Amino acid sequence: MARIIPPTRFPDSVAVSYSRSINKLISELGKITLSVYDEQITPQIKLQKSRDDNSLYKLDAPLDVIQRAVDVIKGLSLGIFNSSVVQETASKFVNSLNLFNKNNISNQGKVKGIDPTVSEPWLESFMKTSISENASYITNIKDGYLANIESIIYQGVKNGSSAKKVRDQLVERVGMSRKRAEFIAVDQTGSILGQMTAKRHKQMGVSKFKWLTSNDEKVRKTHRDLSNKVFSYADPPSVGLPGEDYRCRCVAIPVFDEE
Ligand SMILES: [Zn+2]
Repeated sequence: MARIIPPTRFPDSVAVSYSRSINKLISELGKITLSVYDEQITPQIKLQKSRDDNSLYKLDAPLDVIQRAVDVIKGLSLGIFNSSVVQETASKFVNSLNLFNKNNISNQGKVKGIDPTVSEPWLESFMKTSISENASYITNIKDGYLANIESIIYQGVKNGSSAKKVRDQLVERVGMSRKRAEFIAVDQTGSILGQMTAKRHKQMGVSKFKWLTSNDEKVRKTHRDLSNKVFSYADPPSVGLPGEDYRCRCVAIPVFDEE
């Protein structure tokens, strides 16, 4: 009697924990931004607004003080997003993903008496590339954030916005970075998982896969249309392998030749 092959699984917990790790860094950055803003920039904006009655002083905005405060935030951001922390966050993520997938696909292979993870010459460089790509994504979140908060602060001062209004915009900008982190976590989990699964399936002689969606309301129509259809790894659908599309949580179920 044929034993049942365990399904390929999408590691939601790995994605959630990656997103949390990045968000921890973002929270710290947001906290120091607001503290420097409250202590050094708010008094300058208030001072400028109190001078608004006198147009002679209006152009005399304390930009040098504000510039120094922005530089302080940038300097502190380098400590929070320092390269070893970023590298470690990316590396922990990719390693967890690998362990999860390795275990999952080994269990599929066991049913057929094959272990596709015994020799994996591709793995080392694949992991290295994935880690360094993810380290860049994390660093880009910080860089995008800093560029944006700098412009929020300068625009606010230039337009004579209240200190409260500028502060609200800064808080909102932290939320944007959090959303970005969540996107990257799910997107990268799918992409890396899809590629690892394909390599391990091919290693155990599986040349075809069945597309399986996460079967919830978030699945896009184009992927729902692929659901339960069989494709060849040599000729996948135009959206790529399961998991490779933006934020895709679909997986590839191995199809063994005799089935
Ligand atoms: Zn999908």
